[in-house]
Amino acid sequence: MSRASAAMGSRTLVGKYELGRTLGEGSFGKVKFARNTKSTGECAVAIKIIDRQRVLSSHMVEQIKREISTMKMIKHPNVLNILEVMASKTKIYIVLEYVGGGELFDKIARQGKLKEGVARRYFQQLINAVDYCHSRGVYHRDLKPENLLLDSHGVLKVSDFGLSAFSKQEDGLLHTACGTPNYVAPEVLNDKGYDGTTSDVWSCGVILFVLMAGYLPFEEPNLMALYRKIYKADFSFPPWFSSNAKRLIKRILDPNPLTRITIPEILENDWFKKDYKQPCFRQEEDVNLDDVDAVFNDSEDHLVSERKEKPVSMNAFELISRSQGFSLENLFDKQMQGLVKRETRFTSTCPANEIMSKIEEAAKPLGFNVHKRNYKMKLQGDKSGRKGQLAVATEVFEVAPSLHMVELRKTGGDTLEFHKFYKTFSSGLKDIVWTSDSNKEETS
Ligand code: AMP
Repeated sequence: MSRASAAMGSRTLVGKYELGRTLGEGSFGKVKFARNTKSTGECAVAIKIIDRQRVLSSHMVEQIKREISTMKMIKHPNVLNILEVMASKTKIYIVLEYVGGGELFDKIARQGKLKEGVARRYFQQLINAVDYCHSRGVYHRDLKPENLLLDSHGVLKVSDFGLSAFSKQEDGLLHTACGTPNYVAPEVLNDKGYDGTTSDVWSCGVILFVLMAGYLPFEEPNLMALYRKIYKADFSFPPWFSSNAKRLIKRILDPNPLTRITIPEILENDWFKKDYKQPCFRQEEDVNLDDVDAVFNDSEDHLVSERKEKPVSMNAFELISRSQGFSLENLFDKQMQGLVKRETRFTSTCPANEIMSKIEEAAKPLGFNVHKRNYKMKLQGDKSGRKGQLAVATEVFEVAPSLHMVELRKTGGDTLEFHKFYKTFSSGLKDIVWTSDSNKEETS
C-alpha cells in the first residue's frame, strides 16, 4: 500500500497539457515533463516555463518572436523541436518535443571521455544542427552541455536554439546559467559586438574538446584568469588526441573570429568527414504560427491558465451501490445469467494519473484510439467489429485519497468482442488493480 500514499489524485493542467515532474532548471526557469491529454499518439512533451513580464518588458520581443517562429518551422533531426507556445497572464510556456536519453554530458560524467569515433559522431550531429539553424538566420549564442540532449536512440538534440534572447540581462549581455563562461567565445566575453555564426563555432570546438578529453580546455578557479586563457586560446591537448583532431580543434579555437574556421570548411575537413552521414529530414511546410503571435501580442484572448483538477469523489452509498466485488477475476471473467457483462469496475491504490496512463498503455496496442477528458476516457476501436466499432468508456473516481475506483463500460460494438477485449486488456492492468485479501480468498 505504500504507493497509495505517494500521490493524491489532483493534477495541474495548462491548456491541454497535464504538468508532471520537473525535468531540470535552465537559464530561463523550470522545465517540466508534461502529457498532451488530447493526443492519441506520442503524448510526452517537455514544457519550458518563462516569466512573461520579463520577456514583454525587454526590448527583444521582436527578435524572440521571430526566432521562435523560425524554430517552430525547423524540423531537423538534431534540433529539439518546438511544438507550440502558450501564455498565461504571468508565464510563457514553450512546449517542446520530450527526449528521454538525458544530457550528453551525463555520459561523460558517468563513463569519462569518449572514444574519438564516438565523439566525432556527436560533433557531426552538433555541426549539422548549428549549420541548419544558421542557414535560417537563428544563432544559438549559448551552446553548452545542458543544451545537448539525447533521445532514446542516442541521437543528439540541441535545445534552446533561438531562445538566447530570453537569457539576456538588461544590459544585453549573455549570462550563463552558473556564471562560468567556459564555452563562450572570446569576442562574446569582451562584448564588442559579435557574430553569432563564429561564436557558435567556438562553443562547438570547446564541446568537442570536452567529449574527447573528459575535461575542459579552459578552466581556472579565478574568473579573470579564465578570461585571460580564453582570450589567448591558451590550452593544451592531452596525448591521446589524433593529430587530425588536434589540427581541427586548433582551427576552431582560434581567438580571432575573422580567421576562425567556418562551418563550410569544417564540413570539408578530413577528420570531420570520416563516417559522416548526411542528415535526412523533410521540412514541414504548413506550420501554424498563430500561437506565437498570440503569445507576443497584448491581447488577453488566447491566454491559458494553470488549473488544478481532482477526480470526482464518490460517497460511501454510491460506492456500495456500485460495488459487486473488487476482484479482477470477478470483474473481468464473470458471466451473469449467461450474459457477458458490459460493465465492470475495479479499485486501485495507484494515483489517478497513473491509472489513466496504464489504461491508455493497455488499450493502444489493442488498436484503440484514446480520447481523454479530465478523468474520463473513451477508447474507440479502429477495426469494425460485428456490430460496428467497439467503444469503451472509462472513468476514475476517488473513493478515498489513496483509493480510486475505475469503471469501464462498453458504449458501442459487440459484447462478445468486448469480452475478448477485456481479457487481454485486463492482463495489461494487473499491476494497478488492488485486490483485498478477502477477495483473493474468494476467488481462489
Ligand atoms: P534548459 O533550460 O534547456 O537548460 O533545460 C534544463 C534541463 O531540463 C536540461 O538540462 C534537461 O535535463 C531538461 N530538459 C530540457 N528540455 C528537455 C526536453 N525537451 N526533454 C527532456 N529533458 C529536457
